Amino acid sequence: MPDKISHPCVRCGACCATFRVSFYWSESDPTLTPNAVPIELTEKLTAHRAHMKHADSIDKPRCVALKGEIGTSVGCSIYENRSTPCRDFEASYESGVPHLRCDKARANHGLAPLTPNDWQN
Ligand code: SF4
Ligand code: SF4
Repeated sequence: MPDKISHPCVRCGACCATFRVSFYWSESDPTLTPNAVPIELTEKLTAHRAHMKHADSIDKPRCVALKGEIGTSVGCSIYENRSTPCRDFEASYESGVPHLRCDKARANHGLAPLTPNDWQN
C-alpha cells in the first residue's frame, strides 16, 4: 500500500483485511533485515514463516497494522517496515493491467474493482 494521498489504495485497504500476509521469518529480525517488520506484530506460522497478527478473528484477517476505515481512508502504520508481500502487492491497473487478487479483496469488502480511470489523477 503506497502513501501518496491520490493513490486509490489509501481509500481502500481491502487486501490488508482479506489475505493472510506471511513471509520468511527473517523479515522480522532486525539483525538480518533493515527496516524489519516489528516482531510484536507478527506470529509464527511454520518453522520458517511468520505472518502479520490479525486485529479480528481468523475468518476476517484484518492486519493489525492497518489503520482507518476500509473503503474510506486507510494507512499502514508500519509502512517503512512492511514485508515483501505487502511491497509487492499490485493494485489493478497500477501498471496498466488488472490484478485478480486486488479485485477479489475489494469484492470481499463490497468495493467495485479498480479501472484505468482510477489512475487518471
Ligand atoms: S503491514 Fe501494512 S501493507 Fe501489509 S497488510 Fe498490514 S496494513 Fe497492509
Ligand atoms: S485491494 Fe487493491 S486497491 Fe485496495 S488497497 Fe489493496 S491493492 Fe490497493
